[in-house]
Amino acid sequence: MADCLFCRIVAGDIPATVVHQTARTLAFRDISPGAPTHVLIIPREHLTDAAAVAAADPTLLAELVTAGASVAAAEGIDASGYRLVFNTGPDSGQTVFHAHLHVLGGAQLGHFGQPGVRHGE
Ligand code: 5GP
Ligand code: ZN
Repeated sequence: MADCLFCRIVAGDIPATVVHQTARTLAFRDISPGAPTHVLIIPREHLTDAAAVAAADPTLLAELVTAGASVAAAEGIDASGYRLVFNTGPDSGQTVFHAHLHVLGGAQLGHFGQPGVRHGE
């Protein structure tokens, strides 16, 4: 999709700091990190959110999680722990409607889910 930010990153039209990639996934650092490690894992294919990925291809959803684990290991946060987040829809704070798995770690993360509190704040 020409007007999709993450499709443009996949196409190489917009630069990103890529830290991991597979045939069907791409991982790059979040431009506005909310934790010492903050990486986004996306399917190369344009799918709106995690549920759309699962509906289109459950294996692809698993590949995103597996890529997240690989990134966590490469970042040295697999033992200390990390958070995987798929924001879905406006109340979650989803701003880019191309599915992306946030990998957050490298520090003790605050609790989440409180109204008005978004990741990184
Ligand atoms: P969402 O809020 O939709 O779950 O997450 C979108 C994420 O994309 C945000 O954390 C935001 O910082 C990140 N982001 C927005 N624009 C860019 C960009 O151009 N490059 C990178 N690497 N990340 C971006
Ligand atoms: Zn897209």
